[in-house]
Amino acid sequence: MIELNKKKSLYSLRFEDLKKVVEEYGEKGFRAKQIVDDLYKCKNQGLDDFRLLPNKLILKLKLDYTVFDFELVKRLVSADKKTFKYLFLTSDNKYLETVLMKHDYGNTVCVSSQVGCRMGCNFCASTVNGLERNLLAYEIIEQIAYIQYLEKIRVSNIVMMGMGEPLDNFDEVLDFIKRVSSEDEFNISIRKITVSTCGIAPKIRELADKNLQINLALSLHNPFNHKRREIMPVGARYSVQEVMASIDYYVQKTGRRVSIEYTMIDGENDGIEEAKELTSLLKGKLVHVNLIALNAIEGSEKKKSSDKNIKFFKNYLSKRGINVTLRKSLGQDIDAACGQLRASNI
Ligand code: SAH
Repeated sequence: MIELNKKKSLYSLRFEDLKKVVEEYGEKGFRAKQIVDDLYKCKNQGLDDFRLLPNKLILKLKLDYTVFDFELVKRLVSADKKTFKYLFLTSDNKYLETVLMKHDYGNTVCVSSQVGCRMGCNFCASTVNGLERNLLAYEIIEQIAYIQYLEKIRVSNIVMMGMGEPLDNFDEVLDFIKRVSSEDEFNISIRKITVSTCGIAPKIRELADKNLQINLALSLHNPFNHKRREIMPVGARYSVQEVMASIDYYVQKTGRRVSIEYTMIDGENDGIEEAKELTSLLKGKLVHVNLIALNAIEGSEKKKSSDKNIKFFKNYLSKRGINVTLRKSLGQDIDAACGQLRASNI
């Protein structure tokens, strides 16, 4: 098959690369700074919008580059206009989805790190068709840039809780974190970036050794190995104890508090036994539990826990000194849980 020679996105260039490109075109290096200011400060879609650049530079750039190489396929807005969901098509025709949540404290973008996922959690729509491919660092950046451009807003927080397992795409995700927090590019505070993992213990340790001041979230969902394995196949490779030991190591290395994500599924993980076991597992650790009611996915019989059970579970933990909050489920009217929009489009 003949591949169309598609133009590359300007976001695929790091600041240093951009400087080189500009110099190769016979222009001064400071032009790269002007391009970067436009790319990351939500002004542009087309190259013609780079008003400070000389025309001849724009013409040269246009021959080789485009600003965005994604196509926006769908944009959904929740009834309260606080949650926005986007379906993008990549340059090689893969669907990926991204979510924007407007909070009082700022704008959070939930990015995808892979197209699909191979972790197989049986309550998650992202994994239904397995992994198609890893996203490149710039494709994670482009999700944020595209949303800034579309909504004319500044993004302040990033959560890697969209499609994919970030630690299964380790190098690109690290590169993404480096670039997105760099003063030369997005300049988003590293403390406002959250990486969420299903619990690949050795990768959590590797991440700890990088000593980044990011937030780490662990998707636990059940404290019992035999039950966790049933809903999360990764639990068969790394036991709850192994994962928690890697979390201890992470806390010790970085001094950062870790979030424990706990999706509440009716009759599966919302009973007193789990509450008890979870309490003894987490007691005395520098962690915070986020309870999330399951967002039911199509074709699955799993339901979210009842309000009564959620309340009981939360109170049980908090009375025993565990930090716990119930996370508000946003955007249910627009398929906002991981992979749901893509699943209903492929
Ligand atoms: N692979 C990473 C990040 C993606 S999922 C991880 O596992 O952490 C982000 C969070 O949403 C995870 O805690 C995941 O378990 C949860 N999640 C996935 N599908 C969900 C659903 N249908 N309802 C509620 N939470 C879900």
